[in-house]
Amino acid sequence: MLDYAYIKDNVISVQSGVKAAVERSNRLLDDVRIVAVTKSVGPEVLPALLEVNVVDVAENRWQIARDKLAHPSSTAFRWHFIGSLQLNKVKYIAPRFDWVHSADREELCVALSHEATRVGRTLQVLLQVNVAEEPQKHGFQVDHVASAANRLMGLPGIALRGLMTMAPAMTSDEDAKRVRGVFRVLRQLQTDLKQRLSLETFDQLSMGMSSDYPLAIEEGATMVRIGRDLVGERMSKEGES
Ligand SMILES: *Cc1c(COP(=O)(O)O)cnc(C)c1O
Repeated sequence: MLDYAYIKDNVISVQSGVKAAVERSNRLLDDVRIVAVTKSVGPEVLPALLEVNVVDVAENRWQIARDKLAHPSSTAFRWHFIGSLQLNKVKYIAPRFDWVHSADREELCVALSHEATRVGRTLQVLLQVNVAEEPQKHGFQVDHVASAANRLMGLPGIALRGLMTMAPAMTSDEDAKRVRGVFRVLRQLQTDLKQRLSLETFDQLSMGMSSDYPLAIEEGATMVRIGRDLVGERMSKEGES
């Protein structure tokens, strides 16, 4: 058995980081959801998270998610998919996940719609935007999101809920400015789209990870996806005992 007691401390520390950012930006604590990214740890983490009331969990690969979804605690969680998704994996994701943050192309949205409809579910979908136009990252180009959203809006089985992005890596103060700029662009885009599409529920902004979530919250994030700071590095923890 792995000892996941350290998770409680991590959760407390992230919660206070979130609270501080919320207060700095005059927002409400209830408007920011902490999503625990569990990709680096095993299924045994689930009861530990449940114990501290973290019920939103995210995975970026089906192969790793599968074992966790087989765990008896899995039904107590809301499942978020955040990784790049091949069309042939959609049939596994649609029946089990509640949110897909990484809808990065139209044909994927169509496939999600098709599978969700087939299994009688509605998936909450965020369009991933490659704001910084990094070649190695996935996502719609900023200029293409509006027309895509327009075409996808009426599809059954998916509810378009907002936007997601991954900011560039941050190592200096100069980077921090750039990262903040990326978050700001996403926020502006989401606000514009919500109005343009007349879609009140297009209200979610998934942005911010361990390294940059305070910035993301200051810029309007409604979901932060936190791995390292919450569940730590499994390797070092195992090595300690
Ligand atoms: C791994 C991952 C995260 C979490 O990153 P940390 O630095 O561990 O907090 C967030 N979003 C995506 C898409 C990821 O793949």
